[in-house]
Amino acid sequence: MDLHRLRNLRSPEELRARLDGERQRRTTLSFYRYVRLKDVETLRHTLYQEWEALGVLGRIYLSQEGINAQVSLPTANLKAFRANLNSREAFKEVPWKIAVEDDGKSFLKLIIKVKKKIVADGLADDAFDVTNVGEHLDAKTFNRKMEEGAVVIDMRNNYECLIGHFEGAYLPKADNFRGAIEEVVEAFKENKGAEVLMYCTGGIRCEKASAFLKHQGFTNVSQLHGGIIDYARQLKAEGLKSKYLGQNFVFDERLAERITDDVVSTCMQCGTKSDRITNCHEATCNMLLVQCEACATKYADCCSPSCSEIHQLPIEAQRAWRKGRSTRSTKTKAVNDPAGLRQRIREEEELLALNGTLHPELTTLIP
Ligand SMILES: [Zn+2]
Ligand SMILES: [Zn+2]
Repeated sequence: MDLHRLRNLRSPEELRARLDGERQRRTTLSFYRYVRLKDVETLRHTLYQEWEALGVLGRIYLSQEGINAQVSLPTANLKAFRANLNSREAFKEVPWKIAVEDDGKSFLKLIIKVKKKIVADGLADDAFDVTNVGEHLDAKTFNRKMEEGAVVIDMRNNYECLIGHFEGAYLPKADNFRGAIEEVVEAFKENKGAEVLMYCTGGIRCEKASAFLKHQGFTNVSQLHGGIIDYARQLKAEGLKSKYLGQNFVFDERLAERITDDVVSTCMQCGTKSDRITNCHEATCNMLLVQCEACATKYADCCSPSCSEIHQLPIEAQRAWRKGRSTRSTKTKAVNDPAGLRQRIREEEELLALNGTLHPELTTLIP
């Protein structure tokens, strides 16, 4: 097997052009399964060959504990892909979730990675029984239990809960899974007998989270089967009323898919109601933020005057400025501290008014 060929060798521009030129319709879907896999490296190479031939794009994690996949493929090949999955005992009849709002352009290339775990959760799995999970609920039952007054817990990170969540859900402040689950244990430690409903994007994180809560002594733990993605599908299929408000944060170029028209968040820059989620367009920043249309215009799609000053330079000047700079933002994440972002914007605007620039070093870059 020529392993060199078993990965993407094209440039992003080439990939984008290829996808845009494609005539066939694509479907975006995701699936996961906790299952013992053997000889993961070889499996990875075989899957790459087989799935590339089916036109599959996306991101797949394989590990000894299972598979976690988010992919798009030509709609015409869905049947063949299902047959391919079913041809292996480990993936047989694995339930997949089809994205609701979808132009099929969510992924540019096929990436299959071998990982230690299929979800980086930071938990010591050997310390508890990961298969002792909570009861799986469908959308209808989840809704009913909410009406009966069960405690609802969002198991996603803070930036995912921002633009949409279940009505009245407990939203952890942590920006990682481990922090969130520890926060939940602490917040409900006096109430371990309460009926607890958990949910996350696709259901996979609740598998671990519910097992962890049970290990911690919680006695009545249930989880939304298939997560918000499948909840949205069931709403449509069965004509149920959504108790989830707003948008569902997703991990591809779309960033979000809308579940209901409710707007549950505010613009981090001006505070008006908005759930327009985006990244700062200045390449060295790229900070995730909720930004209303008006602020997007005002700050040229950037998080701050300082980023927008760079972003509006001629492309060569931007490149010169970026040279040697880290692309990892060191600024406080706006999600954790929107007030801090507004403070920084005010200070920068004052400085800008005073000096005419926030980057005096630019005078040496631009003749
Ligand atoms: Zn705004
Ligand atoms: Zn920025």
